[in-house]
Amino acid sequence: MIRIGLGRDLHRLAPGRPFRLGGVELSANFGELGHSDGDVLAHAVTDALLGAVGIGDIGEFFPPSDPQWKDADSLELLKSAFARVKALGWSIVNLDTVIICEKPRVLPYREAIRASLASALGISAEAVFVKGKTNETLGPAGEGLAVEALAVALLEKNGDS
Ligand code: MG
Repeated sequence: MIRIGLGRDLHRLAPGRPFRLGGVELSANFGELGHSDGDVLAHAVTDALLGAVGIGDIGEFFPPSDPQWKDADSLELLKSAFARVKALGWSIVNLDTVIICEKPRVLPYREAIRASLASALGISAEAVFVKGKTNETLGPAGEGLAVEALAVALLEKNGDS
């Protein structure tokens, strides 16, 4: 059996915060606001995986109202969510992602982000793709006020249909 999941997230940008995408820190004097470390890509991938299996979403597993997730490393949240997905017998076929922000440019970090996500999930970097897009200066991402991420995950499970 195969299942597909979609994740989407957006975080405001603010001065003095780390700008983290898929566990990789980008060079910028601003970054994502968030209760956790704000890693918008890790959050979108987490929701894509949870959504494919239909067991919940990131806000249910790691509620922002819970102080234990304050400044949490989002890659650790991703690993924890994927452990639940794996425990149900699912494995990842591939992930595809899009990051939308005006700056910094994502392309120079693409291979590092692919490797970081792949390592967190125990899969090959070839199974993870990352694309950076601007928003043509339009909307919150285009005005530099926010960064958005989209992710789709294809999962497979052997033995039943
Ligand atoms: Mg988020």
